Amino acid sequence: MSEEIMKQNKELPVCKETTEVVAVNNKQCLDNALINDTICHNLITAAIQSLKFSYAPYSKFKVGAALLTKSNKIYTGCNVENATYTPTNCAERTAFFKAISEGDNEFSAIAIVGGKEGRLKDYCPPCGVCRQVMMEFCDPEKFVVILAKSPEEYWVYTLKDIMPFGFSPKNLNA
Ligand SMILES: [Zn+2]
Repeated sequence: MSEEIMKQNKELPVCKETTEVVAVNNKQCLDNALINDTICHNLITAAIQSLKFSYAPYSKFKVGAALLTKSNKIYTGCNVENATYTPTNCAERTAFFKAISEGDNEFSAIAIVGGKEGRLKDYCPPCGVCRQVMMEFCDPEKFVVILAKSPEEYWVYTLKDIMPFGFSPKNLNA
C-alpha cells in the first residue's frame, strides 16, 4: 500500500471502538434511522447465527449478515461460494436479494460479521460490490452499517461513510 493511500485511509471517518463514541454515533443513527443499541445487538446476534449456514468450502471465510427493513423485519444472509468462484455471492447481497425477492425494498441497517472458519477476530467490512448494491436501495446518509466482532463489540457507520461519492440511481437522472 502506497504512503499516499495510507494517508488517505487515516483521514477516512471511522467510529472509535469505545462505548462512549459508539453511543454518540448511535444517537446520531437514532435520529437518522431509528437505530439504537438494542437493535444493533439483535442484528449482530442474527448475523452471527447466520454464520452456521455459510457455504465457504474454498476460502473457509464465513460471513453472516442481518438486514433490517424499515418495517422492522430482519433478513439474514450468508456467503455462498462456488467451485467456479465467479458465481459466489456475499452474505450482504444474499440478505438484500432475499428481501427484494419478497417485496421488501426499504432498509434501515445491516450488521455484518465474518472471519476464517467463522472466528470473529476482526471486523469484516463489506466488499465494493455489496456497497454498490446498498447504494441502489438505501439512502447513503441514513442507512446504517454495523461491523461487529460480538454483540457488544461493534462499529457503526453510515453507508456514506464507507462509500463516499458513490454512484446511485439519482445519478442517472442528473
Ligand atoms: Zn460483498
